Amino acid sequence: MMNWNIEADVVVVGYGIAGACAAIEAKQAGAEVLVLERASGGGGSSAMSSGIFYLGGGTPVQKAFGYDDTAEEMYKFLMASTEAEDPEAIRLFCDNSLEHFNWLETLGVPFERSEHKEKAVFLNTSECLFSTGNEKVWPYKLIARPAPRGHKVAGIGENAGAEAMKAILKRCEDLGINAEYDCQVQSVIRDEQGRVVGVEARRNGETLRIGARRGLIMATGGFAMNREMVCANVPLMSETAEPLGIPSTDGSGIIMGQKIGAATAAMDGVIATGSIYPPGQLIKGILVNKLGKRFVAEDSYHGRTASLVMEQPDQTAYLIVDAEVFAYPEITSAQHQLVDGWDTIEEMETGLDMPVGALQATMARYNQYAAEEADPDLFKAAEWLKPLDQGPYAAFDISFNKSIYLYMTLGGLKTNAQSQVLDPSGYPIPGFYSAGACAVHIPRTGKSYASGMSLGPGSFFGRIAGTQAARNERAQHRYGQIKNSLTCFKHG
Ligand SMILES: Cc1cc2nc3c(=O)[nH]c(=O)nc-3n(C[C@H](O)[C@H](O)[C@H](O)COP(=O)(O)OP(=O)(O)OC[C@H]3O[C@@H](n4cnc5c(N)ncnc54)[C@H](O)[C@@H]3O)c2cc1C
Repeated sequence: MMNWNIEADVVVVGYGIAGACAAIEAKQAGAEVLVLERASGGGGSSAMSSGIFYLGGGTPVQKAFGYDDTAEEMYKFLMASTEAEDPEAIRLFCDNSLEHFNWLETLGVPFERSEHKEKAVFLNTSECLFSTGNEKVWPYKLIARPAPRGHKVAGIGENAGAEAMKAILKRCEDLGINAEYDCQVQSVIRDEQGRVVGVEARRNGETLRIGARRGLIMATGGFAMNREMVCANVPLMSETAEPLGIPSTDGSGIIMGQKIGAATAAMDGVIATGSIYPPGQLIKGILVNKLGKRFVAEDSYHGRTASLVMEQPDQTAYLIVDAEVFAYPEITSAQHQLVDGWDTIEEMETGLDMPVGALQATMARYNQYAAEEADPDLFKAAEWLKPLDQGPYAAFDISFNKSIYLYMTLGGLKTNAQSQVLDPSGYPIPGFYSAGACAVHIPRTGKSYASGMSLGPGSFFGRIAGTQAARNERAQHRYGQIKNSLTCFKHG
């Protein structure tokens, strides 16, 4: 028998969106729930987010603007774009995406029936629906019918996520969910059978042992703020890139999980952004590396572009425009510096220190096909194609190690579709669940991310974790025995 200072059926660590949604479902499933939060209040980085949820399958907002989206099209897109390792999780998320949108609305999360048609990174208005991923980018547009799936909460400004968290935390309060604040969880406790049964935490200088009768849900967010972890896991990260999040986005839940034998996945995955758009007209320019070669369709989602910039020789890349397309990138925080202007492409090539003839050849080929509204190399959509032949010409330096790219991590504890945390052999660790940025994201790299792919799946799989943990009966999980018998089976 363990001695606990406090006990509950389901213990949730972290009161961001994943933890709060888990707590609601666990409570509604009849469990006694306790949330442990390191800060003095709930919200987490979810409350500072832009409030974009990636959801589809025919939401009322999609329908209001004539988009015929289905769970199947969403599934096809996500399967194709995310190098999916867990089709079951993607299927579950897509099949239930519409229900999840409705669930969020019933909690009071406000979504306007409005649409933003321009290419944007975030919205400073209360508009809701916009395109936030690579749905319209080749080859995905050929695989699944494109539809906008970014649903932004109706809040003004860059931190509209606070409106969502206000509603969700209010529901937690109305349900009478208990929370301990200023309570930093430091380790996970397993019993002799290997089942997770509680945690050790520090509160007001005191060490507490807190028991979880049915399940423990780790929802402590990602690790962007832990420089050591980022350096160890993301070799391509640059000195100039800046992490996004609150200070406690330091990977503590991932580390605690690893210490008790949990597997992790995609720890090198980041979504970085330093978008060239808006304005959309800059997408009509081309992006080239230091060898003068194009490497990404310029109409790609900004996170995909950033990921590919990261991989170029010396992480160097330029946005090239002519006089007709010229504009300054509106997201000034990215600090894409104007290098210079030149009368000819040849002079620009010399000015950018590129191999002789390389940029000239790239632009001659690009311009030849753009005149026919074609891009046989990278398949940029026709609406963004125009020959870049109106001098003078200009280049912006968008290098990964010179501009300021903002990033979040995508890797974390390895989970299955039931939000159970897995061990390195792929077996669920009994009593242990995780969701949100502390667990591995569906998109494992910035190349396949779409804005909203944290809050959407994070809230959804938080709900799954809460439901599963509440249902869990300790007697059903004699982990040591089950694992041993499954291991025998696996190895014949
Ligand atoms: C500026 C910004 C804009 C963003 N915009 C979007 C967007 O529009 N759409 C989108 O999908 N994603 C967006 N993201 C990412 C998204 O906000 C996060 O991935 C998501 O909020 C993570 O939710 P979470 O519940 O996992 O973690 P969080 O919301 O960070 O919650 C984790 C909680 O755990 C607590 N905690 C941490 N460690 C411990 C511990 N040891 N013990 C106890 N408590 C602990 C933290 O204090 C925190 O309250 C944005 C992020 C930022 C920073």
